[in-house]
Amino acid sequence: MKCSVCGNEMTASATCQVCTAKLRDESGAARQHVLVLGAGLAGLSAASRLVSAGCRVTVIESDDHVGGLAASHTLKTRWGEFDYDNGPHRFHTTDPNVKSEAMRLVGDEIVWAQRQSRIYLYGRFFHYPLQGGNVLRSLPPLVLCKAFLDYLAVKVRNIFARRPDNNFENWVVNRFGRKLYDVFFGTYTEKTWGIPCNRISADWAAQRISLLSLWDTVVKTLFKRRDGNVPRTYVSKFFYPRRGGIGRLCVRYAEEIRAAGSHVLLSTPALRVHHTDGKVTGVTVGGPGGERFMSADRVISTIPCTLLARLLTPTAPAEVIHAVDSLKHRSMIFVYMVLNRPTVTPDHWIYLPEQTLTTHRLSEFKNFSPDAAPVDKTLLCAEITCDYEDAEWRLSDAELQAIVVKDMGRLGLIKESDILQTFSRRERYAYPIYDLEYRTHRDRLLAHITSIDGLLSTGRQGLFKYNNMDHSIGMGLAAADNLLGTGKDHAGVAAGQEYYG
Ligand SMILES: Cc1cc2nc3c(=O)[nH]c(=O)nc-3n(C[C@H](O)[C@H](O)[C@H](O)COP(=O)(O)OP(=O)(O)OC[C@H]3O[C@@H](n4cnc5c(N)ncnc54)[C@H](O)[C@@H]3O)c2cc1C
Repeated sequence: MKCSVCGNEMTASATCQVCTAKLRDESGAARQHVLVLGAGLAGLSAASRLVSAGCRVTVIESDDHVGGLAASHTLKTRWGEFDYDNGPHRFHTTDPNVKSEAMRLVGDEIVWAQRQSRIYLYGRFFHYPLQGGNVLRSLPPLVLCKAFLDYLAVKVRNIFARRPDNNFENWVVNRFGRKLYDVFFGTYTEKTWGIPCNRISADWAAQRISLLSLWDTVVKTLFKRRDGNVPRTYVSKFFYPRRGGIGRLCVRYAEEIRAAGSHVLLSTPALRVHHTDGKVTGVTVGGPGGERFMSADRVISTIPCTLLARLLTPTAPAEVIHAVDSLKHRSMIFVYMVLNRPTVTPDHWIYLPEQTLTTHRLSEFKNFSPDAAPVDKTLLCAEITCDYEDAEWRLSDAELQAIVVKDMGRLGLIKESDILQTFSRRERYAYPIYDLEYRTHRDRLLAHITSIDGLLSTGRQGLFKYNNMDHSIGMGLAAADNLLGTGKDHAGVAAGQEYYG
């Protein structure tokens, strides 16, 4: 008999001699083997819950580290150590279960940060969330007047001939008027998504608009909500691991899972997901030991659902593959710069909506935790959105540095002579693109995946959802509960029109 975890030829023993997987519990009953694809927050939270319920779990991760989008790394240099994330990652949740999960994992190693972020417009920095007085004082008066008149105009027009909220542009203009749309929403959104705003779903506006909304922010700043709920943007205090970045959450999850005798296999990509007679049977994985088949009673997948559909064996029907081809992701380049400066900004991050700047956001990890960098040095991260394998994706570190230095020069933040080292990382599946047809394609794809018994796709990538870390943890936990029979709906997490910014 072969071990279903590592493929080793086993003797009569109930425990594999190579990977020590236990095939039977104390009573001698065979334990369910669950394969979890992806060691990001969704996969690891699901695995952790299943392990504590007594399941035999193996997590398969293609990267050589855990964490996915919420991974962190430490750069060791002769100047000291620098912790860094994939862009700024601020953890916040309103779900008490998710909060206690995070506290259990890293509660004894956190620092509390007082959020500070700004937005750069018209050659000036504005506090973000915006402060009414600061906005009124700093915005050019002509822009303010035009914005106000356009706002009134659209309110009047809405009474007689309201445009339908059928795309991002209409959604925003209906609420804020044309001038605010042009200045704050249209340019940044096209820069981030790489497609015209009238091709973007209004869903994205509903969930993310406060990110750039001057008007909305001023209104919310002046008029506190009666229900007492503070929108995520206004949460000023958040916790962050003192060392190791936000990725400590996943590192701690993996430690717990391994300590309980289950497995987190790195550098092990899922290559094929097998199903027979409508039921999942296992996964062929690659990795250092070569290709091997791992059987499974259940598979929880948190890898991109578009990728999962392509791995299905036998292959998915043509209309599902069409849906997969139609769903797109926006990719991201993170350009990191080690600087010979104790600090550059007081901010956790700065939004850069102007089209003339290639960088769209800048972050400084030392402001998340003072121990993230040596006292006299700092590390900045500039984010550049692009399409997978386009001209920007292929730029060298030297070319990226030149672009970012030019941008930062315009902001008056750094000089080339400050830079000690530049390097970059790339993330292919950074943002799911909510274009006008995405819902139809996503639903078709997920319906096919759901039709395969024992296969469950969840998490940000698994559900093609633009959600946050806490949502991914919530989805992973709910998926595990669902599988354990408590009937929770993992697809219901972050399903509403709540604000995610
Ligand atoms: C730039 C940026 C900034 C963000 N900032 C914040 C923030 O401030 N606050 C916040 O709450 N959220 C933030 N988020 C969102 C947050 O990072 C994600 O919602 C969350 O980390 C997603 O976790 P996940 O497990 O669902 O997906 P992922 O982290 O993407 O995990 C999927 C995993 O599957 C693995 N995988 C892929 N293919 C295979 C394969 N074939 N075989 C095996 N494994 C595979 C991947 O390597 C990855 O580890 C940000 C996201 C980005 C991109």
